[in-house]
Amino acid sequence: MRIMNKTLEQLPALNLETLKNMVSDWGFPLFRAKQIMDWRNKGVLNPDDMRNLPQDLRTALNRNLCCQPLKLIQRQCSEDGTRKYLFSLVSGKTVETVLIPEPERGTVCISSQVGCVLDCPFCHTGTQKFEANLTAGEIIAQVLAVKEDLRNNPLSSDLHDQVTHIVYMGMGEPMANEEGLHESLGMLMAEDGLHISRRRITVSTSGLTPQIDRLGEVHPVNLAISLHSALDEERDTLVPINRKYPLQTLRTCLNLYPLAHQRHITLEYLMLDGVNDRQEDLNALAKFVNPERERVNLIRFNPYPGSPYEGSPTEHMNKFAQKLISKGIRATVRRSRGQDIMAACGQLKSSATA
Ligand code: SAH
Ligand code: SF4
Repeated sequence: MRIMNKTLEQLPALNLETLKNMVSDWGFPLFRAKQIMDWRNKGVLNPDDMRNLPQDLRTALNRNLCCQPLKLIQRQCSEDGTRKYLFSLVSGKTVETVLIPEPERGTVCISSQVGCVLDCPFCHTGTQKFEANLTAGEIIAQVLAVKEDLRNNPLSSDLHDQVTHIVYMGMGEPMANEEGLHESLGMLMAEDGLHISRRRITVSTSGLTPQIDRLGEVHPVNLAISLHSALDEERDTLVPINRKYPLQTLRTCLNLYPLAHQRHITLEYLMLDGVNDRQEDLNALAKFVNPERERVNLIRFNPYPGSPYEGSPTEHMNKFAQKLISKGIRATVRRSRGQDIMAACGQLKSSATA
């Protein structure tokens, strides 16, 4: 069996130009690069499955590229159609990806790191020590693997069977892996790549403001901020990066973030019973939000074994939302998906089985 070499370039990370150069270096006509790209963009990464390629080109691909940087270890399907995937990287480390199918869209929630350095106390991923940044190839390969799975294992007919939306809300803090983030965004949006519009891509961050500024300049996709409290003292504990970039700094940064037409910044607000769901929390939140440019998404706490918090009761969440709405703020309560397979937000934690 061929041993995967980590230093080889990864097929999911290549653009058409680079692939053309490679193909011609190996002595094949340029149109072969487009054929390879078409397979890849459909999620077919194994050269042996690229049926219109001559055998010697398949061999060249296998020899010179890391074609499949991820190996599927496990796939779990929820009653609501949500699918959670556990992949191992070439290094043996593991990451998770989630597909959230709905009648009119298919969203893939991707991981950007193995573990996370930021230690938010309510987050399952945060309890895992940071191990690695994912490369752009490993990030894109998550999307491609889901596409392939959708072709091989179709969903029930009431659900959309294509990948239409991408959210960087899986494991890790995307802004702490800027290289992987920006490179992968470029590939998601490229015409010869997956060609997904910036309006259909969302990056979620706990609030690293210099990186948010740069994202706005280079790849102004949709932005989601894990706010969770609009009181500095409380947020210092819940989202420890707040000690470095406090609310006032975040406020200035958000005011400058470029928005696509009729788009909003999403402020994610996890509701923890007796912690950040009191009247004073609501008042501070209402004061913080810029209703013209931002909306609030109240998130139900997803417990995990040993988690130190309780979620706010549903009724209280609904009331909290109503009060925000009565103050002229767009607010919604996020429906939790895939909870029966621990695929919901903050529950992703790769249990290394590699
Ligand atoms: N690091 C980024 C993106 C990954 S976390 C960030 O923090 O934004 C994705 C979302 O899940 C964030 O809003 C995060 O705050 C939320 N989350 C984390 N743990 C959770 C939990 N136990 N229950 C519900 N949401 C959680
Ligand atoms: Fe990291 Fe986001 Fe989890 Fe905080 S919520 S520990 S930033 S993954």
